[in-house]
Amino acid sequence: MSALATDPFATLNEEQRAAVEHRGEPLLVIAGAGTGKTMTLAARVARLVLDGADPQRLLLLTFSRRAAQEMERRAGRMLHTALGLRATQGAPVLPWAGTFHAVGARLLREYAASLGLAPQFTLLDRGDAEDLMGWVRQELELGSSGQRFPLKGTCLAIYSRVVNVRESVATVVQTMFPWVRGAEAELKRLFAAYVDAKQQQQVLDYDDLLLYWQQMMEEPALAAAIAARFDHVLVDEYQDTNLLQAAILRALKPDGRGLTVVGDDAQAIYSFRAAEVRNILDFPAQFAPAARVLALTRNYRSTQPILDASNAVIAQAAERFTKDLHSGREGVRPRLVTVADELAQARFVADDVLLQREAGLLLKQQAVLFRSGQHSAVLELELTRRGIPFVKYGGLKFLEAAHVKDLLSVLRWVQNPRGRLAGFRVATLIPGLGPASARRLMETMGSAEDPAAAMQAFKPPASAASGWREWLTAHAALAEAAWPEAMAQARRWYEPQLERLHEDAAIRRGDLAQLERIAATFSGRERFLAELTLDPPAATSDEAEEPQRDEDYLILSTMHSAKGQEWNSVHVLNAVDGCMPADLATGHAGEIEEERRLLYVAMTRAKHQLTLLVPQKFHVTQQAKYGDRHLYGSLTRFIPEALAQRHFERVAPAAAHAAERTSAPLPAIDLMARVRRAF
Ligand code: ATP
Ligand code: MG
Repeated sequence: MSALATDPFATLNEEQRAAVEHRGEPLLVIAGAGTGKTMTLAARVARLVLDGADPQRLLLLTFSRRAAQEMERRAGRMLHTALGLRATQGAPVLPWAGTFHAVGARLLREYAASLGLAPQFTLLDRGDAEDLMGWVRQELELGSSGQRFPLKGTCLAIYSRVVNVRESVATVVQTMFPWVRGAEAELKRLFAAYVDAKQQQQVLDYDDLLLYWQQMMEEPALAAAIAARFDHVLVDEYQDTNLLQAAILRALKPDGRGLTVVGDDAQAIYSFRAAEVRNILDFPAQFAPAARVLALTRNYRSTQPILDASNAVIAQAAERFTKDLHSGREGVRPRLVTVADELAQARFVADDVLLQREAGLLLKQQAVLFRSGQHSAVLELELTRRGIPFVKYGGLKFLEAAHVKDLLSVLRWVQNPRGRLAGFRVATLIPGLGPASARRLMETMGSAEDPAAAMQAFKPPASAASGWREWLTAHAALAEAAWPEAMAQARRWYEPQLERLHEDAAIRRGDLAQLERIAATFSGRERFLAELTLDPPAATSDEAEEPQRDEDYLILSTMHSAKGQEWNSVHVLNAVDGCMPADLATGHAGEIEEERRLLYVAMTRAKHQLTLLVPQKFHVTQQAKYGDRHLYGSLTRFIPEALAQRHFERVAPAAAHAAERTSAPLPAIDLMARVRRAF
């Protein structure tokens, strides 16, 4: 250790230090927002490495790829300080840091040979999985006999629930989808055919990654081999794991030794994805009597007035385990701002953000949070109009754009020639090749022993002859190309199609260039395709940080995507019933509780300033069948009047201005005297 080394753990408090230094027995750190759970986990990683642990043998499971990178950075910084390394010396790489799904995909690929899986399998995102479900549904002619049968999206939702909650189709239908009662037998037939189709096409969906990983861990020899690779398993945001994830962890560390999980039951916001808050609550019993439970009690993030308001919101929850948060830091009360409508809301936020920017707060230290992706549309326009740069997380995904999907499909099809969705998509991009020919191509390739040879032998219609030849040349080059050169090759073939198919090709080309830049940061095609499918960048500019690290931009994020993060100033849009809780969630007591926790998550992101906006009229886009409509909003039910009075500053900017105009004392003039003076 060099003479420059200092103790990077000096700032930890006693409780945090106990969590960092704990060895052996399973450890649960359960504590409220901003108490340093993630910090402690990073410090623990650094401490373990300092004590001789091999970073290759640490498995770190986080909520997003971004969170994994952040953890790597934090742990790296601590190691640097501890070892007195220079900034230019590389930080330790944690090759096994990522989401459950991404790690699952890697392990499944490694062990594919033992599992009867094709190692070149590709992943379906939610949209692809729905399409495949729809295709199978059609093949089986379900719903075509004049009888009502759930749509593909509902079918996938039921399937996903069955897989993740590990319940029977009958139970899931009974409890969650009662309106499709009677269709159970056909749903089972559909799901069996869906599984067959995936196997035949060598594709896996999102849920398969956890399911197959868990199944793989039920096989003792495989479980032992995989468990032996990791000395320590550390999990952040444990409250949002589901039963499959808990089972995987148990199989990795059967007696819990070397397992560390951290989380906060008051921030459980993923039960719609079958997350099971009982995982965290039952952890001590599961590993009794060995399990050690530690609590962190001091909040380091927010001022006391922000915590008081947040505590008051969560205090109304039906049940919770973690205690009230306390920081003792002074500050101003959060604001509740009433505005006329969404436009007024957008203007207020833009003004306020600029005002704070003038006062020295970088845009990056400010965030605007909302319940669902489309809630920021008006604000995005306003920000664009005023030239305020922003980056948006969550909501409409970059990968859902047609041209991005096209380009990725090219890579996917080359990787897995049996993948029908990618194949069909690319085939119909070839000039002159229509859907009927594309279908014929898929059938021949699907049933062939060697699908690539079947592609070569395929006879396209005369209209597609030259386009087809070009594709075959491009395909040959692509199959040979190293990474990331393959990406450039794919673009070279695709761009002429883009020009032909889209009027706004120039704008879309920018996204493709962006995608190529992202591609270059991955070690290979498989890793790139898998990670991008599992944890997609949210907006075009999302991954653009690297080349423009010094640029400043405002953060826009859904509340879900804001998990684990913090900003100096936070604006929360649409704190009204109908948005918070969401319109769709008003039926079920459990769902309402989850919405309450979501608001709590949003509020506890703020360090110094928190502003909730309450538009009196706002626009909601519903599912197509209901059409759009306006709602007249009242303050969210999670902030009853008494709570608002006690913990918030009420502001009504428009009304305040109007009041100024009418009630300002008017000058008194003696008109007669003036007239007289005029003579
Ligand atoms: P969440 O529940 O929102 O995920 P968390 O418990 O993971 O929160 P962190 O994000 O780890 O909390 O920490 C919150 C903030 O407090 C961070 O800015 C972190 O650097 C700071 N912090 C944590 N512990 C300490 C400490 N002992 N001294 C000073 N600052 C600290
Ligand atoms: Mg955290």
